[in-house]
Amino acid sequence: MILVLSKGISSHDREMIRIYLQDRGFRIREHQFGEEAIIGATGKGVVDLRELGLLPGVERVAATSKPYELVSRETKPEDTIVTVGPVKIGGSRISVIAGPCAVESKAQIMETAARVRESGAVMLRGGAYKPRTSPYAFQGLGMEGLEYMKAAGEAYGMPIVTEVVSPELAVQMKDLTDMFQIGARNMQNFELLKKVGAIGKPVLLKRGPSATIEEWLLSAEYLLASGTRDVVLCERGIRTFETYTRNTLDISAIPVVKSLSHLPVIVDPSHAVGIRAKVSPAALAAIAAGADGLTVEVHPRPDEALSDGPQSLYPEQFERLLRDIEAMAPVVGKELLRIPRPKAGPGEAGKRTESLRPLEIAVKVAFSGESGAYAEQALIRTFGEEAPRLSVSSFRAVFDAVLDGSAAAGVVPVENSLAGSIHENYDLFLRYPDIGIVGEVKLRIVHCLIAPEGATVESLRIIRSHPQGFAQCREFLNRYPHWQLETYANTATAVASIAREEVLQKGAISTVAAIAGEAAAKEFGLQVLKSGIETNPLNYTRFVIISRRIGDTAQGPSGLGSDKPNKASLVFSVPDKPGSLFACLQIVSEKGINLSKLESRPIQGQPWRYLFYVDVSIPDTPGVFEVAIEALKTKTEDFRFLGSYRASL
Ligand code: PEP
Ligand code: MN
Repeated sequence: MILVLSKGISSHDREMIRIYLQDRGFRIREHQFGEEAIIGATGKGVVDLRELGLLPGVERVAATSKPYELVSRETKPEDTIVTVGPVKIGGSRISVIAGPCAVESKAQIMETAARVRESGAVMLRGGAYKPRTSPYAFQGLGMEGLEYMKAAGEAYGMPIVTEVVSPELAVQMKDLTDMFQIGARNMQNFELLKKVGAIGKPVLLKRGPSATIEEWLLSAEYLLASGTRDVVLCERGIRTFETYTRNTLDISAIPVVKSLSHLPVIVDPSHAVGIRAKVSPAALAAIAAGADGLTVEVHPRPDEALSDGPQSLYPEQFERLLRDIEAMAPVVGKELLRIPRPKAGPGEAGKRTESLRPLEIAVKVAFSGESGAYAEQALIRTFGEEAPRLSVSSFRAVFDAVLDGSAAAGVVPVENSLAGSIHENYDLFLRYPDIGIVGEVKLRIVHCLIAPEGATVESLRIIRSHPQGFAQCREFLNRYPHWQLETYANTATAVASIAREEVLQKGAISTVAAIAGEAAAKEFGLQVLKSGIETNPLNYTRFVIISRRIGDTAQGPSGLGSDKPNKASLVFSVPDKPGSLFACLQIVSEKGINLSKLESRPIQGQPWRYLFYVDVSIPDTPGVFEVAIEALKTKTEDFRFLGSYRASL
């Protein structure tokens, strides 16, 4: 049994809880994490859980038959997000760690760091102490190797993770590494777990080759019980009767562990399969199964590697893998984590750069709708779960909040892959010339039919949603021509309206449902009658991040826009004469600029005149884009540069 205590519980209330449990025959363990306190109680005692829940200072009680407490989802229902410097692991992001099996030389780790960072790795891995099956195999460079790794991590702005093989070394290594790795062979080295846990730094805990899921979670429990909060679990293949691959990647462990524990789970496809050609397919399967990230072995010249060369990817293969993951991420409702590049180059190695600050922002980001809205999910994808949010009631209010400074940025949808553009937001850019675009994010939209408990598809008469929700579920709605559609400002507001009426009418509603995302159903405690009712599962909405312009350009909050922009949005009108739009497109074409979107909108007050909204790529060659923009200005009227940003796949 687990008791989660209220924050700020008095010592008197706490003592009363202890006495209550001990009097009833329980043995108790108390865990304190900052302000959070948890009591684990075991024994033959009998108690009414409801009565226990009513004791002053008890926030939640969970009956558990599991042998672990602190790692259990019953103790902490929400996902743990592990922070390692600027990197976060868990939640809605996919974080990729890469590097060689072993640090072999300063040049080797520097070269590998440069290559994997360029492709999008956010942390650097590498062994300085290598637990090898044979005592005659390369054992690693030891502390010297760790120094090289630290230098490489700092040069390329990546925190590092390296294996610790003994409690004594844990103490020596603690100031040089950002995260400890406990290797598969040491998963049940309990003295090591206790020592590393007590240091309090983040830990990557590999699953032992013959460990059950429960044994693995109990090892994580050792780490948490010893003092660290930041544990990432890593599935790296288990021993089975199959000998074709080095181990057998236990894909099913990912969803199982994610339901049993709140800790993030990543996968090491390299040690799981042991064959280079099979690493990327296994990595993609892991992401599809819900892994929060990967750790992948990459070597600039695998044939020359001192350990695990046959399973190490060439840098080009790793780059390709990351592109595939980026394309796949929205399907599983996640985003590949990118961190800003350090401003200092490798020449200034040793100096932590400004861009290594955590990505979270301390200022509010505005979105339209209630909690659980798709826009809120897009916001979380961009700024993280912890970003302070400002929920407003319309798209226009998002622009207002950004303009008057009550929000540092806003998130608004601009187009959907099934239903087309959200014209209202295109038009708002015209009314708010001081607002520009600083980023974009694409979200896969899975619509659900959401209704109060007791309602069935047959009992429904009224369906509420945003017009986009109706448009994207057109085929499903056509099957029920008797349904009356009611329009709401956004999908989550439609769900909220039903939840409120439910309360007022004491649960008597069985005729009204909403079309919205699953998050909104959870937020308002309603049931999902049917999921995936959009006309085509390839249903994506593109949101833009808006911000106030300073001078000519819009400034994003810190952490956004630090990568080189590769996309820009423009708006202009053209003179009312033959060939004027063609002249603009000709400039774009001649400069080799890719035009990804062209949208025309009527100019209010000027019948039959139009504004063109254009999205273009920014070529790599310096200067080309700027020249094209200057040329465009000469061919257009009312030219406005809405902003440049990193394209989302
Ligand atoms: C490693 O990651 O370098 C390693 C040795 O992995 P494992 O402990 O999973 O075998
Ligand atoms: Mn290895």
